[in-house]
Amino acid sequence: MKRIIMHIDVNNAFLSWSAIDLLNNGSKYDIRKSYAVIGGDEKKRRGIVLAKSIACKKLGIKTADTLYSAKQKCPALRVFPPNFPFYKEMSKKMFSLLSVYSPDIEVASIDECYLDYGKVQNLYGDPFLFAKKIQKQIFDELGFTVNIGIANNKLCAKMASDFSKPYKIHTLYEEEVEEKLYPLPIEELYGCGKRTSEKLRKFGIKTIGDLAHFDVESLKPIFKNMAVPLVESARGINRDLVCSEAWIPKGIGNEITLPKDIQDKNELLLYLREITENVALRLRKQKKYAYTVCVTLKTKDFKRRSHQKKRKNATDGTEELYETVREVFLEMQIEEGVRLIGVRLDHLTDYRTIQGTLFDSFEQIDDHSKLDEAIDTMKRKYGIKVIKKASAVEKVSFENRKD
Ligand SMILES: [Mg+2]
Repeated sequence: MKRIIMHIDVNNAFLSWSAIDLLNNGSKYDIRKSYAVIGGDEKKRRGIVLAKSIACKKLGIKTADTLYSAKQKCPALRVFPPNFPFYKEMSKKMFSLLSVYSPDIEVASIDECYLDYGKVQNLYGDPFLFAKKIQKQIFDELGFTVNIGIANNKLCAKMASDFSKPYKIHTLYEEEVEEKLYPLPIEELYGCGKRTSEKLRKFGIKTIGDLAHFDVESLKPIFKNMAVPLVESARGINRDLVCSEAWIPKGIGNEITLPKDIQDKNELLLYLREITENVALRLRKQKKYAYTVCVTLKTKDFKRRSHQKKRKNATDGTEELYETVREVFLEMQIEEGVRLIGVRLDHLTDYRTIQGTLFDSFEQIDDHSKLDEAIDTMKRKYGIKVIKKASAVEKVSFENRKD
């Protein structure tokens, strides 16, 4: 089956985000609609243009121009300093919004990512309509526009998102490569730098199509082992995978030594519940979501055993995590007294993911998060053991009765 990859790219990210930041802070005018640039320190002569408005672009101001030369091109120019913490926040919000639809997102830079749509297409349907929907959602909820490129691989998706801007969606499927990619000048081939394209032009290669049809063998003496990948990319061929793992940090865990050796599964579950609450609290403090749940135990003869499971969705909810902990634990054989027990959360991401589209499950998740939030606040205020959810309290009082 053919892959479907989307490349989502914020239009003029730094300028758009600064505009939002300024509007949020009471500014009356939108710098996107005036002669404005985001620039480094003006007092230091090194200051350069990091981003420019469309009006500035029309006057010939380019990214990486010195502020000095930009002002010569446009005396009315206003320069705004970058606000990187705010950019990061906006970036995170966008990836977070997208990862609700798919865990297979590769963050390529602060303002762009790839989404492996093929894997979730059966949930959301037509790629173009889906792209329209998320483009609108980003605009409505976050206030900025993105371009989206849709294709059968990363290279073509990236190229497509660059076709024309802003707020556009372009496709560049395999069958469209000849029509849409081949006429472009060779300089526009992604990954083909200035020096490479200069060399290619010496071969009479002016367009991407020229390169696509060129004899690879005759390029080999100059480009060595880059010759084949170059010609392949001109033909729109690319096999790179969407690597969502790259931004997944290390796990969080906790284990406790029990006051006595315990073999009773129900009793052990009470401890697991307590541990899960605490690791989930740490997870939420770090604003992370976990895919994998691992239960570890040590028997009285010091043998260590662990068992784990990867969830379909990443979560930070105590209830959901405990459900998986319980499942994993009940699959473990307990034939002797346990002296140590622990829970570990792995495959952490910065974003919650939701599989499926059932509405009631969204609402349930929302309710649980609110409850978790309230409990976290209480725990921070009054200490870790003071408050438990009703389900935990029931079990605890049951245990008390037993005593
Ligand atoms: Mg961008």
